[in-house]
Amino acid sequence: MSLSAAEWERYARQIGPGVLSRAGQERLKRSTVLVTRVGGMGGPAAQALVMAGVGRVIIAHGGAMISADLNRQVLGSETGIGRLRAEHFAARLRELNRFVAVESIDHEPDDAEADALAERCDLLIASPPNFAERLRLNRAAVRAGKPLVDAAQWGLGGTLIVVRPGETACLACVYPEEPPFEEFFPVVGAISSTIGSLAALEAIKILSGTGEPLFGRMLVYDGLRGIPSLVALRRNAACPVCSASSPNR
Ligand SMILES: [Zn+2]
Repeated sequence: MSLSAAEWERYARQIGPGVLSRAGQERLKRSTVLVTRVGGMGGPAAQALVMAGVGRVIIAHGGAMISADLNRQVLGSETGIGRLRAEHFAARLRELNRFVAVESIDHEPDDAEADALAERCDLLIASPPNFAERLRLNRAAVRAGKPLVDAAQWGLGGTLIVVRPGETACLACVYPEEPPFEEFFPVVGAISSTIGSLAALEAIKILSGTGEPLFGRMLVYDGLRGIPSLVALRRNAACPVCSASSPNR
């Protein structure tokens, strides 16, 4: 699939030495990415993917916007309070780039839907607030053999994990037990956008074949002190999701 002259003009600043190749840009155009959810982290991630020219971006997010979302959910607006998030956010994304197809799903996918979506996608970005959903997307990504970028945040800090199924640790290797869910955990929008944008950058690198993705490592950003660190992740040979003996495989 080739790009039109108008598309090459759109992406001119991101093609060349140190950024994407023309072939990489064409690979982005042929790619489909699922982002769930599209709040503080997934919103900026979806925005960056759409602006970069990923061919199809599927967003999933249930429920209606509330005022407290607007300290971080950049795809929202004052006029969206009380409206369903998914279509409100999708409309904003479509305004950003006419060359990209945006699909919206107005709920969080269950196991079967996550599996079907993973089959359709080239990569998944997981940024839900709870581990049940994140681990569900991890299972779907491992089953489908698709890369997963997991973004998480708390307070002024965040983490990023990039999974290549069959080669690197998966999310269940790192979190064998689901940590407790805290519904209204503290978070500042600046860290949400940072982690979400880095998740999109990893996705763009993987899909376009640019640079060195963070496969097998966890990026931890301690925003309180302004200190980033990288943690090497080891696979769990007995992982119920990604080990060779797992019924999931
Ligand atoms: Zn695993």
